[in-house]
Amino acid sequence: KRDPCIQGERTMQQGFLSLPDGHPAMMAMGDPNSKQEKLDPEEEKKRKHSFATFSSAESSNESFVPYYCFACGSFVMAVDGRLHQMPRRKTDAAIVLDAKKRLKHRLHQGECKTLKREGGVEKQYRWHCTCGVPVSYQSSEWSSECNFVYVIDCSLALNPSIVSLYWREEGRVLPECMAVREEEDGKGETLVVQIEIVPEMKRFGIAKFEDKMVVEVASTVVGGDMKEANSEAVKGVTKVLGSSSKQVKLDLGAGALIINGISSKDAMRRIVCAMH
Ligand SMILES: [Zn+2]
Repeated sequence: KRDPCIQGERTMQQGFLSLPDGHPAMMAMGDPNSKQEKLDPEEEKKRKHSFATFSSAESSNESFVPYYCFACGSFVMAVDGRLHQMPRRKTDAAIVLDAKKRLKHRLHQGECKTLKREGGVEKQYRWHCTCGVPVSYQSSEWSSECNFVYVIDCSLALNPSIVSLYWREEGRVLPECMAVREEEDGKGETLVVQIEIVPEMKRFGIAKFEDKMVVEVASTVVGGDMKEANSEAVKGVTKVLGSSSKQVKLDLGAGALIINGISSKDAMRRIVCAMH
């Protein structure tokens, strides 16, 4: 399928697509330690409180979901639905968000970037968080109507407290539940993630990512049969990671997910962004 962001036919410059290690948002903010905003518990409470007031006044919609900047933890946008269930672009793994589902935002007009892509040129009209980090873009001018907005990979998170935890030094080492197996012949790494699946919850979600990854699912268990719950968990995590169904398998014996095709860093950031 044609990528709607890419216009025209031009040759690709080799090497252009290989992003340096680390997320665009992180590169934009430079050294995360120097700019890190310390969230003390009082401040966090205030933030949550102010959003609660805002959300009840602005919307009666139950699916109104607030998202926060992964760099600074400020409120960025409210979405009708959950970003980790939406499709991603193949090019840069940005989340494709139906513009009608971006209900409310505190984004600032950023710069217009022109990128060379395979098969053409792409213009990104970027939106920045109040901290200056680019978090989203669209393919036509800021003031124009567009069908889709793109959320930059790992730029927004569901839970601002998890974000502040992540940026503390110890939060960035891999959690206990995730082991990395280096594959031979440069075939990359396989991730082995210890998982616990909790059925009969309100919806799919990731509740914990420490000694175990605790995945909640809506599926019910009839007569002790976890088959449906397991399958919902695997599908949900596959979406979170932006992987394909071939890349994520459940090893029932080991109680672990076996994940291929994604680095441990990317997997960890995407999981952290989706945690509630
Ligand atoms: Zn920010």
